[in-house]
Amino acid sequence: MSDATAESPPRTRWDVIVVGGGPSGMFAAHEAARHGRRVLLFEAGDGMAQSLCPRVKAVARGRRIRDAEKFRLQCAHCTCLTGLGGAAFHFDTNLGYIKGLTRSKVESDGQGGVRAYSGLERALGGFETARHEIGEVYELFYGFGLTRADFPEAAPGPAGGTAGFALADTAPSQPIMVDEALVVMDRMSAEITRSTGRILLRHRVTRVARRADGFAVRVEGDHGGEYTARSVIVAVGKLGLGWVREVLAELDVAYATPERIDVGVRLEVSLDEAAPLTENCHNPKFGFLNEAEDTVRTFCVCVGGRIMQYEFLDTVVLDGQHCLSAPTRRTNFGVVTSVRVPPGEDGTQHGLDFARRVNKVGRGGAVVQQAADFLGWRERPTRQLASSLPAAVRGDLAGALGRRRVADVAQMIERLNDFSPGMIGGHALIAAPVVERVYPAITLSHEMESSVPGLFFAGDSSSKIIGVTYGAVTGRIAARAALAR
Ligand SMILES: Cc1cc2nc3c(=O)[nH]c(=O)nc-3n(C[C@H](O)[C@H](O)[C@H](O)COP(=O)(O)OP(=O)(O)OC[C@H]3O[C@@H](n4cnc5c(N)ncnc54)[C@H](O)[C@@H]3O)c2cc1C
Repeated sequence: MSDATAESPPRTRWDVIVVGGGPSGMFAAHEAARHGRRVLLFEAGDGMAQSLCPRVKAVARGRRIRDAEKFRLQCAHCTCLTGLGGAAFHFDTNLGYIKGLTRSKVESDGQGGVRAYSGLERALGGFETARHEIGEVYELFYGFGLTRADFPEAAPGPAGGTAGFALADTAPSQPIMVDEALVVMDRMSAEITRSTGRILLRHRVTRVARRADGFAVRVEGDHGGEYTARSVIVAVGKLGLGWVREVLAELDVAYATPERIDVGVRLEVSLDEAAPLTENCHNPKFGFLNEAEDTVRTFCVCVGGRIMQYEFLDTVVLDGQHCLSAPTRRTNFGVVTSVRVPPGEDGTQHGLDFARRVNKVGRGGAVVQQAADFLGWRERPTRQLASSLPAAVRGDLAGALGRRRVADVAQMIERLNDFSPGMIGGHALIAAPVVERVYPAITLSHEMESSVPGLFFAGDSSSKIIGVTYGAVTGRIAARAALAR
């Protein structure tokens, strides 16, 4: 792999510059290098192995990563979401669809009904295109060393039916473990740098400026300075939101405030209680519309997983962590509502305000509350469940979330209990804040090109999609469009 300190200074003029070495940036750089173009990727963090959780490394000395998985605890402010591999690969991860893309989201059709869609389909302008591109990304992953998951042809879906849900998607998921991801990242890096590409680790891009024949990119690091390219692909992920907002303003890129953002909680129950939900599908997606016709849905089901917390701008937010190689005795999953941002309000701020409100109750962090208290049930739970969040602050989460968001969670719990009686008892735990899709809605073509010709946005920072394979697809699409310029 290219290491900034070990190699000669790179040339300053390139065909394509990629900012960020997560899945979207890596797949973008790989696609450009595969076509023989000079591509330079800057990654602010270190190599993947070097940026794994430091607490794991402390315990793991002399052991394989997989054996160390059980020591992977979460710090109140996790800092290991950067470095090659990005936010995705520093934990075991589920890549999502394996047998083809499905339409896993629902929304109101405005006429009393619902319509199902895929975020990737919308980003690329067609379902068949999206399905084809996902298939290609999977083949690349397998070529880089990912073990092909063995799933039944047609997953029968969770037991108990799908009462009360407008959507029940049980498409099987392909897992990728940390030690497999290390191999994948190494092989990708080798292919990028073997030909016409270069990767500079520990180099942070601070500025992108227009030039007559493309862009000038300012970089901090050992080989810091100014680099130029005809095209730039921004792939800085969720945590790059603050910097992307600066780029949008400085380059006068067209964007709007997001009309809807996702806010909500993570629900945690014991492994056996969640079994009816997950026994035939590791990541079932359920959705319904609430009274305001906002979609309420489950996402990122972590069977045997943990809840984790990390810094997102000035807030602390939650996500689910898969612990596939060293499972816990608990299952957690997200329950979010796609709320409409009030007219005149900035959607990004609206989402961050939600997180700040919860953080205030959590003395600067996350809050956990028992379902019985959260929902105001009179009957007291007869058993207790310990939260997988090590630094969980118990508090009045329901008060911080407000009546409408509590009602959404209550309805989801009611439907899940209809589906499998007793699945979510009073002892279940509700944790928050979960905040997603708060990126400004950047105006992009179906090739991920912004209103500034030659400037592309991929992955989470495109504002159109979230997830590893979706990020990889948008990175490749952006690279191909950049090469065609
Ligand atoms: C805990 C957790 C669990 C998740 N689980 C799953 C899952 O199971 N399945 C799934 O599909 N998705 C999952 N996701 C979401 C997934 O990780 C992201 O959607 C995906 O990583 C986005 O890829 P990306 O390349 O767009 O951005 P990222 O992976 O965030 O990578 C961005 C990279 O850019 C670098 N960078 C940022 N700014 C700069 C700069 N100025 N200069 C240079 N480099 C910079 C960062 O260091 C980082 O490495 C999870 C996310 C989290 C946080």
